[in-house]
Amino acid sequence: MSKNANLQERKIAAVARGQGNMYPVYVDRAENAEIWDVEGNRYIDFGAGIAVTNTGHSHPKVVKAVVEQVQRFSHTCVMVNPYESSVALAEHLNRLAPGPSPKKSIFVSTGAEAVENAIKIARAHTGRRGVIAFNGGFHGRTNMTMGLTGKITPYKNLFGPFPAEIYHAPFPSELHGVTTKESIKAIQNMFKADIAPSDVAAILIEPIQGEGGFYPAPDDLLVELRAICDEHDIVLICDEIQTGFGRTGRWFATEKSGIEPDLVTMAKGIAGGYPIAAVVGKSEIMDSPLPGGLGGTYGGSPVACAAALAVIDIIEQENLIARSNIIGEQFSQRLNAIKNRHPSLVGEIRITGSMIAMELVKNGDADNPNPELIQKLIAGAADAGLILLSCGFYGNVMRFLPALTMSDEIIKEGLDLFDTLFDASVG
Ligand code: PMP
Repeated sequence: MSKNANLQERKIAAVARGQGNMYPVYVDRAENAEIWDVEGNRYIDFGAGIAVTNTGHSHPKVVKAVVEQVQRFSHTCVMVNPYESSVALAEHLNRLAPGPSPKKSIFVSTGAEAVENAIKIARAHTGRRGVIAFNGGFHGRTNMTMGLTGKITPYKNLFGPFPAEIYHAPFPSELHGVTTKESIKAIQNMFKADIAPSDVAAILIEPIQGEGGFYPAPDDLLVELRAICDEHDIVLICDEIQTGFGRTGRWFATEKSGIEPDLVTMAKGIAGGYPIAAVVGKSEIMDSPLPGGLGGTYGGSPVACAAALAVIDIIEQENLIARSNIIGEQFSQRLNAIKNRHPSLVGEIRITGSMIAMELVKNGDADNPNPELIQKLIAGAADAGLILLSCGFYGNVMRFLPALTMSDEIIKEGLDLFDTLFDASVG
């Protein structure tokens, strides 16, 4: 039995099936955008650990910062004895978050925890209970964030009851015939049928849906949500956990619409793989909870803060925001060539910076999803030397999240491999 197969057998026997793994490929080491498994096979990584290693695997600057930090100390708890790196990181995030208002930050450990805390802050600020989120949105696997997530399988079934006072509005998608007007109308209708706007604490939205299928929120939707929130003193929360840190060709995807959210949740790309997440927002809102009301033992770990400071430095020094757009153009050319070859199978290519999606359909019909082809591509990816990820409300979207440090040569090699895999999978 191969080493990978043996490890997978041990894993299945030892780990609960709820924590699945897409590939029975066990990692030995990884460098920038390449991964080598325990059998010495090499893979081009088009997933970046689900939008986490935006600055590549084990960037030398991140490694140096982490090693230096663990040699000094690895934990004191930021709520007991803080350290300069946590203050410096908050200062950077306050500077980088969209909009001109003075900002403050708090640190937690995971994306779901950041969303949970954003809701706590919004409720403390408004004294209200309701939260509006969107169909197809994904916000995490904890109880509150499961409730906020707008997709049942596999995230919600078996796990109810969910927290009360959560309402879902339709998320616009031109491809699927849902307009901004319809989304806004549904919210206005909610204010009549379900909850008074004066009882709504927050509206929560991903500026580009991640797990849901890489559907961008139209600019006019974000502008209208900002206006609704201003009119009714509702806190607008943008979940930038998947879209942040250069992924969309901007520091944060919300910038494109020109609006300033009240709170932003951040995680994933923030620290190149070290577990840290943040809520960053307008100071007067962020200061609503009482001291001790927010936080956690590992929130703002000094090791993760050191990594995050290195990541911000790398994005700035290596011009990775501009690079994100260049990479997106390279993918655009190649994926659109596939679309032209197979117009009945590729419904849409959606690219914002390096947040890249290819939606697969049957008979050229957007309402006829093709998750079977996605399954085939994923099943063949490892043998082709690729790490590929899927997503989508109907499981029919191939998503590409390349490291922003990926070289032109590796991108070309990876896209050549994908080209061949695609043609072989449809043949
Ligand atoms: N929000 C968004 C937009 C995400 O993409 C994710 C993770 N896929 C989360 C929240 C949850 O983050 P975590 O898995 O770190 O809890």
